[in-house]
Amino acid sequence: MSSKEIISMISKPTLYDVEKIRSDFPILQTKVHGKPLVYLDNAATSQKPITVITKAQEYYSSMNSNIHRGVHALSQVATEAYEMARIKIKNFINSLGKNEIIFTSGTTESINLVAQTYCRANIKEGDEVIISEMEHHSNIVPWQMICDEKNAKLKIIPINDEGEIIFEEFERIITHRTKFISVVYVSNSLGTINPVKQIIKLAHQNNIPVLLDAAQAVNHIPIDVQELDCDFLAFSGHKIYGPTGIGVLYGKINLLDSMPPYQGGGDMISKVTFEKTTFNELPYKFEAGTPNIAGVIGLGEAIDYVTNIGIDNIALHEKFLLDYATEVIADIPGLKIIGTAKEKVSVLSFVLDDIHPHDIGTFLDFEGVAIRTGHHCTQPVMDRYGIPATSRASFAMYNTKDEIDILIKGLKKIIEVFG
Ligand code: PLP
Repeated sequence: MSSKEIISMISKPTLYDVEKIRSDFPILQTKVHGKPLVYLDNAATSQKPITVITKAQEYYSSMNSNIHRGVHALSQVATEAYEMARIKIKNFINSLGKNEIIFTSGTTESINLVAQTYCRANIKEGDEVIISEMEHHSNIVPWQMICDEKNAKLKIIPINDEGEIIFEEFERIITHRTKFISVVYVSNSLGTINPVKQIIKLAHQNNIPVLLDAAQAVNHIPIDVQELDCDFLAFSGHKIYGPTGIGVLYGKINLLDSMPPYQGGGDMISKVTFEKTTFNELPYKFEAGTPNIAGVIGLGEAIDYVTNIGIDNIALHEKFLLDYATEVIADIPGLKIIGTAKEKVSVLSFVLDDIHPHDIGTFLDFEGVAIRTGHHCTQPVMDRYGIPATSRASFAMYNTKDEIDILIKGLKKIIEVFG
């Protein structure tokens, strides 16, 4: 079957109004170097709908006040909005209770929190922690740090040429000394969706808790933490159309309860004397100091926005974009896709002959196309493929087929110029 025939078979979701969605994102009207912006760097950060921008602004213009401690009206309104966002997130990922939702500055802080509290308390010399070869640096370095401190061993699940976890290797490296597993749900540099339910099942058969790095999953896949049965789950607000500097750690209540606090300070205490301090109840035990209130409220609004469109509808639209892009990009001579897993989200990493990804990114920028080039904070993935970097186009709910055509046109021009 020819690629044209395949493209015509790729069905487009019918009731999905991408132009209406685009009109909600003011930045998409921007021109770059005189050309309309084609924003394909969504895996790095997504753009924000006007409702999120206005909500964060509304906090500063009509509710600005510190939360939890004030008896005055503004403080109560701000506290209510902040706690409402927690409930929205609880519902969005279907956790059992709102006290399982901890606000952090992002995925990175969420993972560090678990490494520095749960793992510092539970990992001993000679124990093992397992991660995969496709982790983002923020799901590698915190585990290296705690393993170094404890003289524990960090074990790596290898990936195959398609960029999929080799499950038999995972089964092989689990031992009675394995005390924690932390894996990425969706790879940011390959797009692979990992078989996390299977991983969790096997881990639990061996009484090992699992953390899921859901930074690249939460915006593409419906997440139900009860169904997944994960012990911890981390994500960042800015990847799901919310503000930067805000993120979430979900944890099962019994685990969170058993963990020592992460940071000490205001709001995380119940009573302080110079002799002894007792800690606040969950989730406040892990939220020391004045938090990113505008960020939390903005994230709540982003969750509303995504919920209204429907994560399933977004996933369908993005699958259409990924299938189309994968098909048309294959016609570019000398181009090789890095990451060809059967289960993928809308992330397309590639190398193009000997042309350096940095040159590709710079050239495309002059065409108005924003992609990401480099190692994507996954240097071990680059090592696995023996390359220094890739070019990565990543699609979001507001991208269009026309934008993919502009990307392809740009790549063809690059070939002409670079020969
Ligand atoms: N994990 C994955 C898979 C990511 O893609 C990223 C960011 O790109 C992170 C973790 C870190 O997220 P943040 O920088 O928002 O903490």
